[in-house]
Amino acid sequence: SNSPINVKLLLIGNSSVGKSSLLLRFSDEQFLPEDESSATIGVDFKVHKMEVRGKKVKLSIWDTAGQERFRTITSSYYRGAQGIILVYDVSNRESFDALPRWFSELETYVSKDVVKIIVGNKVDKEFSRQITYSEGQHFAERMSSLFIEASAKTSVGVKDAFREVVEQIMDTPQLWAPV
Ligand code: GDP
Repeated sequence: SNSPINVKLLLIGNSSVGKSSLLLRFSDEQFLPEDESSATIGVDFKVHKMEVRGKKVKLSIWDTAGQERFRTITSSYYRGAQGIILVYDVSNRESFDALPRWFSELETYVSKDVVKIIVGNKVDKEFSRQITYSEGQHFAERMSSLFIEASAKTSVGVKDAFREVVEQIMDTPQLWAPV
């Protein structure tokens, strides 16, 4: 049929890893430098239309920062998500070490069929890299997650990250069972 399929994606990860910047780069082809980007308060979401394998897809992409400060929104934030984008900053070890905690949180809210992709953002900061590609990749394998490195600043990997998660969602019939 001609009507688009609806996909809900969430961005999660520590504060400042670049979640809002990835979303802005993906949906508006923009990047705001440090002094102009403002912290997300509560939840923000963007609708983005794309075509994947000849099918129209309407993506709703939810972004939140300071999730810690807004515990009460957590369950509604996760509800109905088919894909989760877990972001860390390749130049920030702490943001990578926080991923297991993000996984255990999301496992309490979503089914195991939900597609996960880990995005190592800020690869443009090659000289301050603290996490190698293979360390990220091995962790993703252990978590049965897709993996990609990206930069919201240069846009490398950004479209691929969203496309890969949507393709995997389309390949997961359990996510399309009638409710
Ligand atoms: P969020 O808190 O996870 O939503 O992170 P933001 O999107 O607000 O980004 C935090 C900071 O990192 C901002 O100063 C951004 O300009 C910067 N930033 C985001 N993505 C990148 C990137 O790919 N490369 C570089 N060099 N800086 C980035």
